[in-house]
Order: sequence, then C-alpha cells, then structure tokens
Amino acid sequence: MTTDHTSTNPREMATAYDPQVVEQPLYEWWETNGHFKPSKPGAPPFTIIMPPPNLTGELHLGHALTVSIEDALTRWHRMLGDDTLWLPGVDHAAIAVNAIIERDLAKEALSRHDIGREAFLERTWEFVKRSRSRITEQHRRLGASADWSREAFTMDEARERSVRATFKRLYDDGLIYRADRLINWCVDCESAISDIEVEYEDEPGAFWWVSYEIADAQGRRTGEAITIATTRPETIPADAAVAVNPEDDRWKHLIGQHCIVPAGGRLVPIIADAAVSIEGGSGALKVTPGHDPVDFEIGERHGLPTISIMRPDGTLNDEAGPYAGLERFEARKKIVADLEAAGRLVKIEPYTHSIGHCQRSRTIVEPLISLQWWVDAKTLAKPAIAKVEDGSIKFVPPRFERVYLHWMENIRDWCISRQIWWGHRIPVWYCANGEHITVRGTVGDPEQCGVCGSTDLRQDPDTLDTWFSSGLWPHSTLGWPEDSEDLRRFYPTQVMETGYDIIFFWVARMIMLSLYNMDGVVPFETVYLHGLVRAADGAKMSKSRGNVIDPLQSVAKYGTDGLRFAMISGTSPGNDQRLTDDKLEAGRNLSNKLWNASRFALTMVEDGDDLTLPAAGTGALEDRWILSRLAAVTRDSDRLWRQYELAEVLRQVRDFFWDEFADWYIELAKVRVRAGDHGPIAVLVHVVDQVLRLLHPFMPYVTEEIWQRLATVHPDADGAPALIVARYPSLDAARIDEDAERMMLAVQDFIRGVRNIRAEKRVDAGRFVECYIVGAEAADAARALAPAIEQLARVQPLHVVASADEAPSEGVVTAVLAVGQVILPMAGLFDPAAERERISKQIAEVEAEVGRQEAKLSNEQFTARAPAAVVAKEQERLATARGRLDGLRASLAELG
Ligand SMILES: [Zn+2]
Ligand SMILES: [Zn+2]
Repeated sequence: MTTDHTSTNPREMATAYDPQVVEQPLYEWWETNGHFKPSKPGAPPFTIIMPPPNLTGELHLGHALTVSIEDALTRWHRMLGDDTLWLPGVDHAAIAVNAIIERDLAKEALSRHDIGREAFLERTWEFVKRSRSRITEQHRRLGASADWSREAFTMDEARERSVRATFKRLYDDGLIYRADRLINWCVDCESAISDIEVEYEDEPGAFWWVSYEIADAQGRRTGEAITIATTRPETIPADAAVAVNPEDDRWKHLIGQHCIVPAGGRLVPIIADAAVSIEGGSGALKVTPGHDPVDFEIGERHGLPTISIMRPDGTLNDEAGPYAGLERFEARKKIVADLEAAGRLVKIEPYTHSIGHCQRSRTIVEPLISLQWWVDAKTLAKPAIAKVEDGSIKFVPPRFERVYLHWMENIRDWCISRQIWWGHRIPVWYCANGEHITVRGTVGDPEQCGVCGSTDLRQDPDTLDTWFSSGLWPHSTLGWPEDSEDLRRFYPTQVMETGYDIIFFWVARMIMLSLYNMDGVVPFETVYLHGLVRAADGAKMSKSRGNVIDPLQSVAKYGTDGLRFAMISGTSPGNDQRLTDDKLEAGRNLSNKLWNASRFALTMVEDGDDLTLPAAGTGALEDRWILSRLAAVTRDSDRLWRQYELAEVLRQVRDFFWDEFADWYIELAKVRVRAGDHGPIAVLVHVVDQVLRLLHPFMPYVTEEIWQRLATVHPDADGAPALIVARYPSLDAARIDEDAERMMLAVQDFIRGVRNIRAEKRVDAGRFVECYIVGAEAADAARALAPAIEQLARVQPLHVVASADEAPSEGVVTAVLAVGQVILPMAGLFDPAAERERISKQIAEVEAEVGRQEAKLSNEQFTARAPAAVVAKEQERLATARGRLDGLRASLAELG
C-alpha cells in the first residue's frame, strides 16, 4: 500500500475519514499480501462460489448486494480461522450478449448473417473482454475479498472441458437426446428458449369464430358447415384436422367427413377426440399440430401431419400459400379480412388471455415445431428432490424449499439447444450419412465419424443454453472433470448465495448437474436467497423508469463501507428491500463515528500506559458494565451470524457501539481521565478493537484503516498483521456481569431523568442544580458514579439518600423511575416570573386558535359542504387545542 502503517503516528489521524483516499490502496495491500487466498490447510474449509455476473455491461445494485452479503460471510469465516475461499467468475450470458452484438450490428444496418459466424464471434469476444475487465474492476471497488487467482469464466477452456465432458456423459447415459418437439420460439432472438424463459402476461385478444365448409373425401361441398373459434387465425393455413368430442350430438354425424380449411383451401378430416370440450366455444376445435402444444398431442394420437407455416423470423413460409412472406401479425389481418370477404367469419369475440413473451426481447413467443437437443430433467430431478427432502441441502429462508420441490416434481424436459452463435457450441458432429452422430467429450474436433469412420464431418451449428455451463459452476470452477486438489479440498461448498428469482434457472440446475457429475455429493449445504433491491418508493429499478442507482456513484458519495452498510442493513433472507438515502447516510455516519471515537481513544493513550484489562469482575463499575455489554453483543452476534441474520448482527453491533460505547462509556471515561485516572484507557482501546473486528465483515475499509493505527499501540495478541486475518471476537463468558449492567441502567435512568426535567423546565444548560437520588437498590451505583452523574447531569450538590423522607417535599420536581426517584428542589431552578410570562403568552395564542376553530365549525355553510372527513379533522384540531389550553392553565396555576 502507498502509506506505511507501521510508521503512522496514531495521534496524527486525520480529523475526518476520507474513504476515497483509503479504499483503493488498502484493497491492493490486502491482495498483494495474499489475504484473499485460502492459506490454512489445517483448518476446515469454507467455500462460496460467486454467482457469475452476466458479461452484459455494468454492475447494478443486485450485484452490490451479492458482494456485500458474500464478502461479509467470507470475511467472517476467514476471521473465524477457516480455510476460506470465495471463488469469483463471470458468465458469458449467451442470449443477452448475443442480443447486444446484434443490436450494435443493426446500427450499421447489418445482421449477424451478413458478417458470418467467425466475424460475429470476433466482435463478441472483443466486447466480452472489455466488459469482463470492467466487472472485475467494479467488484474490487466494492471490496470483494475474492481469490482472483482462481477467477473462472463460463467460456474459458477449463469450463469448456466441463461442458463437453458433461454433455458426453449425459448423452451416453441416454439423458441427452435430440427430438422434434414443439418448442417456444422467439422470432426476435431467432432461437428456441426454455419454458422458464417465457413470461406470461394478460393481454386483450379475441376469439375469431370461423365456419369451415363440410366436404366429402374428394372435396365436394355437402352444403353443411362447422364452426370453430381460434385466438390465432394466422395459423389456420397450418390446420391438419378439425376435432370434436365423440359424445357431442351437434357434430357426431360429421366424424369421418372432411372440411375445407378456409385459408389456403386444404382438405382436412374431422376427427373425434375426447380431449375436446363440449362446453367451451363451438365444441369444434381446429387442430394445428405445428403451432400448438395441445394440438401437437392430438396430432400424435391421430397420426396427423405436422405442418409448419412459419419461418424463424416470424414471417410465413411457402406452406402458407397466398400468405407466404407476410409477417405473422400482418398475416393475421389479411387472413381475417379474407375470411370476412368470403363470408366465413361468423363473429369476433373480445377476450383477454395470458400470452407468453420472451424474457429477453419481450416479443410474443411462438410455439413452433423444431428439432432440438433435450435433457431428460425428470430423471435428473429425482436425486435433486431427495437431497433437499433429506436435509442435505437447506434453504434460507426455508419457505423456498416448498417452491423448489413443487417445481422439481413437475419438471419438464429441458431444451438446451439455442440457434445463436455466442455460447458453447454443441459438441456433436454429423457425417455425410446424415444419421450418424459423433459426440466429443473433450476439447477439439473429432477426426472421423464414430460410426462409419467418414472424415466428412459437420458440427451442429447450435449452441448450448447459457444455464448449461452455469449449472456446472460449483464443480467446474474447482477443476472438474480433472481430479484437482481444489475439487478435493473445497467441494462440496458451504453456501450458495443468490437471488430467489433464479431458483429454477440456476439453483435447481446446479443441484441436478452437480449430483450427476459428482456421484451424488451435493454442491452446497446451504442455499441463501436474497431479494430484489428496489427504489426508495418500492418500485422495481429499471432503465426505462430512470430510477436505477449506480453502485459506483453511491461508493463515490458514501464510501464503499457506506454502501455496504446500506445494503446489509436493509436485507433479510428472501425479502425485497428498498434502498433509501437515509440508509446510505447512516452508513457514512457510522464510518465517521467509528473514526472519531477511535481517534479519541488513541489520543488518550500515552507512552507507558498499561493496556491490560482489569480481571473479570474487578475494576470500575462502568468498565465492568461496558465489557459485559460487549460480551453479550459478541454472544448474540455469533448466534445471529449462524442464522444468516446479517442485518441484525450489524444493527446490534452498531447500536452497542453508538448508543452505549460512544454516547455513554466515552463520556464517562472523559470525566475520569480529566480527573487523572488512566484506568479507562485500556478499556477504551479494547472495546474499539473488538468493535472493529465485529464490524469488519460489513465495513472492511474503515475498520482496517483504524485497526492498523490501533495496532501500533495495541498489537494483536495472535500477531495478526491485518484485521482481515485477525480473530473474530468470541464470547468471554466471565465478563458477563449482571450486577454491573443493572447498576449502570440505574445510573443512565437517573441522568436521563434529570436531563428530562431540565429540558422541560428550560434550565440553562451550563447551570448546576441540586439533586436528590432516592432508592436503596440504586444507591451503590449512584455513589460509585457520583462524579460522572454530577458532570453528565450537571447536578451539584448530589445527595444519595435511601428514602424520600430524607429529601425535601415542598417546592420540588420529582421524576419517578424504574429504580428509584430523582428529586430536584425548584428554588432557583428557574425564574417563575419569566416562566409565568412565557406560559401566558402561549395561552393567548392557543385561545385565539380555539376561537378560530369554534367559528369555523359553527359556520353551517362549511359544515354542510365540506366532506365529512375534513369536518372531522377540524373537530379534532379544536379538541387538541382545548386540551393544550387546559394543560397550560394548570401549569400557570401551579406557578401560583
Ligand atoms: Zn427473444
Ligand atoms: Zn458416419
């Protein structure tokens, strides 16, 4: 690092903490000294694999939350003495990156097909390199103590080995297959997408009722007609049949006859199928196996042809006859118009229905028949269900276990091929024979067909779903399929921390694929799911709303620690959170308060001071108290860490530091030090040291920066060179001192009681007043801390008495507290004449207000016309004013 801590004179701590000066050099210093790497081969391992951010560009607040939580867990375990590894990486984000490059090309009026696969991939790699270094840089700015020497990328060669090996194993086991199926097609991405990439939304649409003429097998019209209802008239040219229920008396007699498809004129059979509902619509169903999943099944049952009339870009093909070349929704308009002109359109019935959209491009998804590669997810799901049911993998919060299990029990086969170029190319080669398939499980191309030996090989043009490679992440990052040292040391990992929104996309697939590749050993023991970070008003952050907060801007304004404080203090497992300026400011304020309190403690230390703590149970009351409170907070935070209640750990430590240590202990210590007592200095330094340790996982920079200075006067007992590798505080049960805590509570109560009376009676702040403290139980505490009470409450002389009989009873103000009473003689406390004048003035003001309200409410024009709620509000205002008036008059009477 740029400044040498060992030569820093602690008495020269800057008056204010400046994160911009401290953070980057400190990060480099940690990294250069190897503190991010696991280095305790004898200790139990603790591993988190970082969810790889998409290489689409900048980090957002979701990443800042991920870093804040995972880095906190990592730093905590490192300080517990575990052999800690947080392994970072990035994801190639196939469809998303592909879309970005295509958008860029479109600006030059080019498509990917214009420039070809090779040039397209060259451009993509350039983009990916740029955004990869940017993302790594941003992670470093957020203080991520990840081991960058092990950084992985879903598209690097090591991960390619994992992908190929997995594909081959699954293929050989019959768990990957190629089949013609109806898939979700995105005409914008020009690719198949999986079921979970489709998002459904209600949209207004219509039922078009269309009448089909009945004909005999030769196509001669019989004069009869049958009516169907469809929401997608553009698919009519692909009809392969009309189906009716065999029990439907309206249409029974037509079964076995034919009808003429009114767009395109195809002659199709009328078939009977029990799946057709008698109640819904007309009772007759057009069957279009090439464009609808239900119809596809009916088609399979009846051996109907699967006619596909759409091209990958959403325009109709030659099978659509006169409509060939039209875009799908243009075709819809044209077909409806033609039906109407031909008298075949019976009616149009408006209808709102749920329509699937591509998650990426928002385009309406088209069910299309297509030859794709599939993973038999049902088979892989079985062990993945069992490992969650038997508790080998736990969810935090546990309610997500049900969500996971429900989905896994109903899982459908996973379409893994994508018709885009950016991604892992499917490791399958076809020879000229056309039927032979050669699958390669290692890097490189095969030389000949595995079946016939032909050297005329062509690789499958498609790529794998991006989640295929990220599904291998917990073991591919550690070196699988190699039997690597990392894999043996760090697998299974302890925690997978990610957003609940990708539990199906990612968590489920990691569990399935890891169990499969790693012989049934779970990839992680705990799945911690965080929520979304929303704007202050609760809205989802999005570019289109313009309410996105850039984490790096917050870092510039509040410091990394300030941002991390805000992220952690709002988080609770599985729930969304709002980011407000208040939380960011609270984080920055805490950094400053830590700095200032530590600076005070350090300036107190003089050469030759003995910084040994008094033995447990001995020493001054306030020392025993603060050390007891510290022990209690240490004990509670340990329990809360283990329950993943990070926000609560932070809150308790912050409250202890601010409300007890800074507000009380430091003030009490000042009184003693001023009187020449150096006793509190060891305690001050010790508590600062422990608070820095407790807070380090959340606010790494400010705590390390202070700790380095503290270490010059108070070296670490274990010889740790840095806070990042120092011991996390553990409970010192002997310090728990209930007597001291009870007595200190009493003292705090007394001081607050006096302060309240002083404020109420407007006693000049600098003035000392006489005071009686009453209460047998509290007397010891009051006597022990008499000088502090005198200073902090500005009381003198202070009488500590056993019962109220020993205090004056006339002309006094009394505060009754839980542990006793404080009694202040009023004489000389304030000036009765000035007080009388002040109260009289207030009475006049409130009387005027009462008068105004009474006049308003007796005005019938107002009470009759104004809404009832407004009138009620005015009545309430009058009642409040009358109450205040009574109180003020009573106070005046008391003054005599
Ligand atoms: Zn799309
Ligand atoms: Zn062959």
